[in-house]
Amino acid sequence: MAAATNGATNGKDRSRSPRKELKDPSKLTEKDLQDGFSAQEIFNSNTNMSGYTYDDLICLPGHINFGVHDVCLSSRFSRKIHLKTPIVSSPMDTVTESNMAIAMALEGGIGVIHTNLSIEAQANEVARVKKYKAGFILDPVCVPPTMTLEQLDTLKSKLGFTGFPVTESGHMGAKLLGLVTKRDTDFIQDRQTRLSAIMTPVKDLVTAEEGIELQTANQLLQKSKKGKLPILTKGGLLVALVARTDIKKNVEFPNATKDPNNKQLLVAAAIGTRQNDQDRVKALVAAGVDAVIIDSSQGDSVFQHQMVKWIKTTFPNVQVVAGNVVTKQQAKHLIECGADALRVGMGIGSICTTQEVCACGRAQASAVYNVAKLAALYDVPILADGGISSPGHIVKALSLGAGAAMCGSLLAGTSETPGEYFYSEDGKRLKRYRGMGSIDAMKKGSDDRYFGTTSAIKVAQGVSGTVQDKGSIHRYIPYLTQGLRHGMQDIGAQSVQQLQSMLQAGQLRFELRSAAAQREGGVHGLHSFERKLFDS
Ligand code: GDP
Ligand code: GDP
Ligand code: 5GP
Repeated sequence: MAAATNGATNGKDRSRSPRKELKDPSKLTEKDLQDGFSAQEIFNSNTNMSGYTYDDLICLPGHINFGVHDVCLSSRFSRKIHLKTPIVSSPMDTVTESNMAIAMALEGGIGVIHTNLSIEAQANEVARVKKYKAGFILDPVCVPPTMTLEQLDTLKSKLGFTGFPVTESGHMGAKLLGLVTKRDTDFIQDRQTRLSAIMTPVKDLVTAEEGIELQTANQLLQKSKKGKLPILTKGGLLVALVARTDIKKNVEFPNATKDPNNKQLLVAAAIGTRQNDQDRVKALVAAGVDAVIIDSSQGDSVFQHQMVKWIKTTFPNVQVVAGNVVTKQQAKHLIECGADALRVGMGIGSICTTQEVCACGRAQASAVYNVAKLAALYDVPILADGGISSPGHIVKALSLGAGAAMCGSLLAGTSETPGEYFYSEDGKRLKRYRGMGSIDAMKKGSDDRYFGTTSAIKVAQGVSGTVQDKGSIHRYIPYLTQGLRHGMQDIGAQSVQQLQSMLQAGQLRFELRSAAAQREGGVHGLHSFERKLFDS
């Protein structure tokens, strides 16, 4: 009889009855309720011999007791540089020049100017970012009263701004005689007229005295409704200028990544490890660069060790981001040379063929978790570089310990990237996006990173492609950060700091996703669909 063989009716087996194993729900412990696995269990399991990508993993939800707008995304780019938006634009010639770096910094991230430029051109791009906004402009371009309007026109077209203090010598620090702005120069027909004849003289200007606080200077500018406020010594010598536009910029971009003292935007730039890269570093530092990133696909080389040490000794205030690395050993070497941050990722970028060509690299989730864990012992942040194609990937990178995500393809195709839009045959608006190790980019000079300029045969480690128009960074980054906030809220972490404390404590729970689970987690089962990223 079936009932006679059923364990539930057999005295011996009764203790194994599933009903008996259930605890009284009021006695369930935290451990009983813990689902999934800690990152430590997933990545350091003795039996686990695989590397995992972001898509292999899923974060399990936690408890929400805060609103989505309460999520704080502040994080670290390097030992000393903090970001309110943990996103960095890659040093690639189809991603970051000054326009991109300005937009990224205004939105709370940071841009890394690529190094496929002459030293002078790269330093110029850095200077453009540093000049974009300021608190007290300590080195405003000044002009002498003898200059003609024609000469001023040439200067204006080169510099991009139109307001100039007129000083006795034409230099900063000299006696201020007046100010020339667009309003003084617009309708004068005779371009041989000298500035002394048309400038607004100093007696008609609103000025302030040296020693004034920036906040008070701003109030004075607002009250006077003027565009510029010259700051003078008691004797009338010019020491600084404050611009009304900067007050507006500050209100419009409250997350901007800026120097707390001079309010200039922060910017990074990429360099190589050749001898002449020391000259490049000197020029970048002179232009005001805040961080240099040593651009190498395998960073654990004596060349890079020497370069990190040289920069940290010669320019101790400049942050040095070393890399790329994917193992703890590589990371330890570079940290011990003095690196202020590490860039993590090898052969996993969307445009990259390194793993195919060189058989070397590592799946990105494993690389990020392992390197971040080692670097945290030294309090060195890491940048998860490459392989990010959605806000969810950024959530995962931060969940595995990254300070910020470095993105190429994700940001390519925005209007701030270098290059022009064009249309595909089916009418899509596109921009080019290419690997810095693609033949196209190497021909333009980036071959140092991948095989060295002297190689007879250039072996590509990247491809050239196209990406669709994504509009402006000023709309796209807010979409990404809102996605990030939702992800962190679902996980139950109100800040990046809390997320990473949960990671370290094993409270952040993950599961691996089978191929079927990955299919299930994407759009499926539809005849067709349209993907709109956001509505605003
Ligand atoms: P904090 O981060 O709380 O110190 O705030 P901010 O740096 O944003 O602002 C501090 C003060 O500096 C405020 O009075 C701002 O209006 C002013 N400020 C910030 N950035 C700029 C800027 O680029 N130019 C000018 N003129 N003022 C600024
Ligand atoms: P202008 O009226 O055409 O001179 O330009 P705005 O005052 O509207 O904006 C000039 C922007 O350039 C501000 O954000 C300044 O901080 C920045 N800037 C940086 N260096 C200089 C400089 O030497 N002179 C001037 N006028 N602006 C500078
Ligand atoms: P993405 O965000 O497009 O997935 O990856 C961007 C990252 O790929 C860059 O930050 C850089 O580290 C890396 N990268 C850029 N160009 C190349 C290339 O040609 N080959 C390889 N292997 N990596 C590249």
